[in-house]
Amino acid sequence: MWLHRHKKKTRAKYWSVLVIPERASDSRRDWRVPKWTVKAGVLTVLILAVSVGLLVWDYMFLRSLRAVNAELLAINQNQAEEIGELKSVSAFLQEKMSQVQELDDEVRERITLVGDGKAQTEERLLVSSRDIQESLPSGITRTLSLPDESGENLMPDSLEELKQELEEMNRMMTNQIESLNQLKSDVEKEIVYESALPNRMPMEGKLSSPFGNRDNPTGSGIKFHEGIDIANRSGTSIEAAGDGVVTYVGYRSGWGNMVIVSHGFGYVSQYAHCQKTLVEIGEQVKKGQKVATCGATGNTTGSHLHFGVAKDGKWVDPLSVLK
Ligand SMILES: [Zn+2]
Repeated sequence: MWLHRHKKKTRAKYWSVLVIPERASDSRRDWRVPKWTVKAGVLTVLILAVSVGLLVWDYMFLRSLRAVNAELLAINQNQAEEIGELKSVSAFLQEKMSQVQELDDEVRERITLVGDGKAQTEERLLVSSRDIQESLPSGITRTLSLPDESGENLMPDSLEELKQELEEMNRMMTNQIESLNQLKSDVEKEIVYESALPNRMPMEGKLSSPFGNRDNPTGSGIKFHEGIDIANRSGTSIEAAGDGVVTYVGYRSGWGNMVIVSHGFGYVSQYAHCQKTLVEIGEQVKKGQKVATCGATGNTTGSHLHFGVAKDGKWVDPLSVLK
């Protein structure tokens, strides 16, 4: 105990700095420096060193942050570009989609004009639009919910996925447009065919003689009847059985005043024993257009229309063509 106290008492409180001059003539100087100031000095130097170190580290960290930031900016710009691209693709596809819709509507509108082929065309249209509807939803809904300009919630992976989906949709819609165009042109042909076909009864009246072999009405024996006879008063309107071009107008012994109309698709129709003819050769006529009036010209027993229909150069029973 005593020893400890003694030691404590003898511990130096000052450090002495002695300055010894080179020449003996100069006076010697010495300072007594309190020990705490040395301690404080060392501490100050330490704090300074640590501060400088922290500053340097901070600076380096900021530098690396700047690099990362530049990289992020580049990625961000990239994504913005990609999103912009996807948006224009999306707009393009929506435009295409409305094209499909328009075509679909057009075909549907025309379909109402088609007769016999209607059911078949409707079936094709149904299949066609079912295909579109089934394959669209996932793609379209995703396209329509593209993120805003910031590109939030859109990872590069899903961007790539979306791109592929859009490409697939584009391919599909191109096929759809192609098949709808085909359908449209088929329907149009069907409409032309439907209007041209000589299937409309050319005159009201009583069927007085059918097609085929019969007793010769104006002579003796059996004679092949190349059409049907429809009896009515003289002057009754005779109308074209289908759209076509007038290929003959004139008087023929036996037939009297006669009109022949060519309808295309191998069909020709003949209107004979007319009182008056009302069209000219080369004239385009519409189904239901008045072409002559009923009479009894030529070889006949009374006023009636002889109506004949030929298909590919052969007379056929008009009743098999008429609606
Ligand atoms: Zn006849």
